[in-house]
Amino acid sequence: MFDKILIANRGEIALRVIRACREMGIASVAVHSTADADAMHVRMADEAICIGPPPSASSYLSHPAIISACEITGAQAIHPGYGFLSENANFVQIVEDHGLTFIGPTAEHIRMMGDKITAKDTMKALGVPCVPGSDGGVPTLEDARRIAAEIGYPVIIKATAGGGGRGMKVAMDASEIESAFQTARAESKAAFGNDEVYIEKYLTTPRHIEIQVFGDGKGHAVHLGERDCSLQRRHQKVLEEAPGPVITPALRDRIGKVCADAVARIGYIGAGTIEFLFENDEFYFIEMNTRLQVEHPVTEAIFGVDLVREQIRVAAGLPMSFAQEDLRINGHAIEVRINAEKVPTFSPCPGKITQYHAPGGLGVRMDSALYDGYRIPPYYDSLIAKLIVHGRDRPEALARLARALSELIVDGVDTTIPLFHGLLAEPAVQRGDYNIHWLEHWLAQHFES
Ligand code: ADP
Repeated sequence: MFDKILIANRGEIALRVIRACREMGIASVAVHSTADADAMHVRMADEAICIGPPPSASSYLSHPAIISACEITGAQAIHPGYGFLSENANFVQIVEDHGLTFIGPTAEHIRMMGDKITAKDTMKALGVPCVPGSDGGVPTLEDARRIAAEIGYPVIIKATAGGGGRGMKVAMDASEIESAFQTARAESKAAFGNDEVYIEKYLTTPRHIEIQVFGDGKGHAVHLGERDCSLQRRHQKVLEEAPGPVITPALRDRIGKVCADAVARIGYIGAGTIEFLFENDEFYFIEMNTRLQVEHPVTEAIFGVDLVREQIRVAAGLPMSFAQEDLRINGHAIEVRINAEKVPTFSPCPGKITQYHAPGGLGVRMDSALYDGYRIPPYYDSLIAKLIVHGRDRPEALARLARALSELIVDGVDTTIPLFHGLLAEPAVQRGDYNIHWLEHWLAQHFES
């Protein structure tokens, strides 16, 4: 086992990893930019080291700064959290070249899943159901017209190198294909430096269902059920829950087994998420994320496992601490993402927290790096807290979420807390009756005037 782990991240996820390290008796090293000198992860880690100025490119994304920090502190392994360097295959290579361990999948698997066409081809070959679409990239507008006509409208044009919902355009019919194709390509070129796009059937009322998988890198893998992340704004998740309100045990077993087998066959190591759109009781693969997800705590709550501890174990060469038959779902969990953003524009709202009070009590988990007097810097992601509740069933989890939200105080900046008060009052949310478009429609109606 490692003696010391460096956490190449900040905010709540850095705390999450530090907590796992402490429980395992492993020393933790925080890295921080000059803007984060007073951040909670710096205070909570055993050691902290400044790695550069505020812009992420010169600090949290700087390969030499992070490798040097490991060498200076004697850390043997790096946990990347999510975002930043978590899915950067070149970085993984550099980490290994320096004799350090990357706590995550191999560079090869990150590359394979980072290119969406390769990911889809691989999954298809492994028996994972995919959205009907082009086999590979679509180089010209003529190809796009022909393939879209074959698949049938509506279609969605997506960037091969895509991520974060960018480089995606829908064409409802043939009259829209030209502009969708050109815009998706231009956006993709600007965002990812790569203008390759592909085409998929556009599903009109799907839910977003993702399967948590975990592999030991030696050909064994399990699944930890699904998360329903259908409440999205601009393709960004806002609320996640597990288990999915419409997923039956039979559906879960079927798709879970397909996913666990797929990652076992490629020898995948660590945590991964296989994302699907789900419509009319069918799953359609869209992408695989080769990292710990923001919403992992809802899975931890219902299975009673610590996914970060497990990541560290397998990275150190130990076996997984559970087998498929040990994994039983207990109750229902919901997570809400609290962002420092002004509703309804969702414009970022950095600034000083004048008062912070976290909720508590049975079944409440608050993953946050906030404290009284903390100044949220303007340089990074606006996620400031994740409130996770766990109950015996979905109604209890919903009641607990409402109760916990009523205890939570975050003063000094605007946050998305009011959004959740509004959502919880909605019958459709109470019933779990929503698809990936529901929230956008609700926001449009709710904030019309
Ligand atoms: P990204 O990597 O940019 O997040 P994804 O492929 O994961 O892109 O898709 C993000 C979101 O876009 C999905 O959760 C869904 O809301 C929507 N989406 C993607 N593909 C389709 C599709 N074929 N039909 C309908 N919606 C889609």
